[in-house]
Amino acid sequence: MDGQWHDGMECAPAMIVTRFAPSPNGSLHLGHALSAIVAHDLAQARGGRFVLRIEDIDGARSRPELADEFRADLAWLGLAWDEVAPQSTRLARYAEAATRLRDAGLLYPCACTRAEIADAAPRTGPEGPVYPGTCKGRSVDGSGPAAWRLDVAEAMRRTGPLVWVDELAGEQVARPDLAGDVVLVRKEADTPASYHLAATLDDASDGVTLVTRGADLFSASHVHRLLQALLDLPVPLWHHHALLLDTDGRKLAKRRNAPSLADRRRSGEDGRALAAQLRAGKLSAGIRLSGVLHSAP
Ligand SMILES: [Zn+2]
Repeated sequence: MDGQWHDGMECAPAMIVTRFAPSPNGSLHLGHALSAIVAHDLAQARGGRFVLRIEDIDGARSRPELADEFRADLAWLGLAWDEVAPQSTRLARYAEAATRLRDAGLLYPCACTRAEIADAAPRTGPEGPVYPGTCKGRSVDGSGPAAWRLDVAEAMRRTGPLVWVDELAGEQVARPDLAGDVVLVRKEADTPASYHLAATLDDASDGVTLVTRGADLFSASHVHRLLQALLDLPVPLWHHHALLLDTDGRKLAKRRNAPSLADRRRSGEDGRALAAQLRAGKLSAGIRLSGVLHSAP
C-alpha cells in the first residue's frame, strides 16, 4: 500500500479486497445474503480477499451477540472470509479523524432535532430531508448534545472537483452536495461516528480496494469520495449491485415477516443451494432484481 494507488484511478491495486459489513441490529435476510455473495464472488473471481467487518457502533440498537449468528449464516451460504476488527474497537481512529476535520474548520455543531430539520428542509435528497445548514455560522453551544456536520460547500471548495468510478455505472463526478451537510459525529454519545465517517475510515484501514454494496447506497459514495480527499485516504473502486425488490418495487429488507437467514438455516434449508439460486438469478415468486447483478469480469 504505497503511494501508487493514492490517486486510485490509474493503477489497479495488486490485490483486490472486498468486504461485507453488516450491523448487528437485527438478523440477516435474503438481501444481505446477496450482498455478501456479490462481495465474496468478486474477490474470489479475481484472486482477492473477502473481508467481514462487524459494524457494531449503533448505540443502543447494537446486539453484539448477533455477530456469531452472522458468521454461522455466511458459513451456511458456503462463503469463506477473513474477519477484521469490529467498529467498536476503532473509536479512537474515528475521534482522531473528526478532530482533524474540526481543526481544519470543516465541521460545525448542530443541535437541531429531526423534526426541526424536516420542517426546515427545502428539498429531499437521497437520504431524506436535506439539512439546510441552519446551524452553520451560528454559535451552537457545544456543551450540550450536538452532532457535528461537514461543511460540504467549504470542503468541496478546498478539494476541487473529484471523480470516482463504479464498475457498473462508470465514472462519476462527485456530488456530495446532493446529500447536504451530512453528520459525521452523531449526537448520541454512545454512537461516536456516523456511517459515512466510520465506513470510509474502515475501508481504508482494511485495505478495501473494491467497495461492494447495494445500489441504495450509491449516493453515499459521493460523500465518501469527498472524505477520502479530505483525510488523504486511498481511493477504491465501487461496485453498487442490484437490489432484491418485492412485487411493489420496495427493497426486500423492508418487507415484514420474511424469514431471516438464521431461521432458514435452523429449519434445515440448504444454504449453498440458496446461494447458487441467488447467483443464477433464480428468485422465488414475488422477488425480483432491480438491475444487473454482475459486471463483466
Ligand atoms: Zn442544526
